Amino acid sequence: MNAKILTSTTPVPSWWTSRTTQIAEFLKQRVNPSCLHTLAVSPGQRMVQYAAYGEAEPHLRGTANFNSALGAGDANAYFRRESRRYPCLLIVAGVHGAEVEGMVGALSILSIVETGKDLLGRAQPGLAERLRRLRLLVIPLANPDGRERVPYDGWIGLPTAEMHRVNQGTRRDGTLYNWPHCKKIHPMRGDVGCFGGYFDDAGVNLMHDEWSAPMSITTQNLLKLVRDEAPDIVLNCHSHEGVPFMLPLAYVPAMVEKQLQDFTANYYTQLDRAGIPHKNSLPPLLSQEPASVPPQALNLTSLLYHTGAALPMTFESPHGLIDQSGLFSYQQILDLHHLLVETAADWLLKSQPPVRVNP
Ligand SMILES: [Zn+2]
Repeated sequence: MNAKILTSTTPVPSWWTSRTTQIAEFLKQRVNPSCLHTLAVSPGQRMVQYAAYGEAEPHLRGTANFNSALGAGDANAYFRRESRRYPCLLIVAGVHGAEVEGMVGALSILSIVETGKDLLGRAQPGLAERLRRLRLLVIPLANPDGRERVPYDGWIGLPTAEMHRVNQGTRRDGTLYNWPHCKKIHPMRGDVGCFGGYFDDAGVNLMHDEWSAPMSITTQNLLKLVRDEAPDIVLNCHSHEGVPFMLPLAYVPAMVEKQLQDFTANYYTQLDRAGIPHKNSLPPLLSQEPASVPPQALNLTSLLYHTGAALPMTFESPHGLIDQSGLFSYQQILDLHHLLVETAADWLLKSQPPVRVNP
């Protein structure tokens, strides 16, 4: 189904590099090769790469997997977090191919770590100093297959229906799958017109892989990375048709839900200071609400908690679509990602004893 590609009256600025080729080129040219690793090769034979900075502390890994450690009533049997000198932050972007905002945010974070300057060339000494005190893992594009299928580099000034068309896909007759139908077929196959950016080339939506037998090698290796690294925070960076907000976290202890609320309140304070609109409500404490019917999904972010991430979260950035509330510029979308990472770094460093700065 060949649909006409739309043109926005707001051009995508040259610094906004979100194409598969631009991301690969950035990683090759601007990331220290010793920090660059391959997570997986996608079904479409594209490399899924990540950058790792700071010291891993594998000697703090315990004698049990996370689930068994909790079975023993002692999370330290999995990982001794309180002994960590370098708190670990994992940033995952580009799980869904059309959600380019997190990809650009992730590249900017890499630029700040490498050069002290963001993608716009602005010096970011405060953020650079914080990031250098972390074990930092960045996956800027988890689903390059999906991204490759999306013909747009940015969304400001474009309509929501077009984003849904290329992200969630269409049937052969051109009708949009939309939510919830885009999740009722998985892997996505069969009645497919526009193959949406949600999916890798095998039709897998990484947010809803089969946890008992993951279909995607990217999922398998991401779960291993989280098991090995025991990140203290995971930012799973998505985008949607509204203002910035944090999705609730299902199937985690109430204490973790509360931490997510506190983190989100910190983040919203930062957005207020920057004059960036956001959703006002904090993520609800699902464990304290009556059981929802139908029940919540155990999605990738929740699963990462049970794999070894202390506080994983799904962030939804605005796309900047024309028919939505809240007007955003590309620079604001970049800035709200910087603030998200800064909030995470402050959260991690505040709860840690003073540490030396990495060389
Ligand atoms: Zn998404």
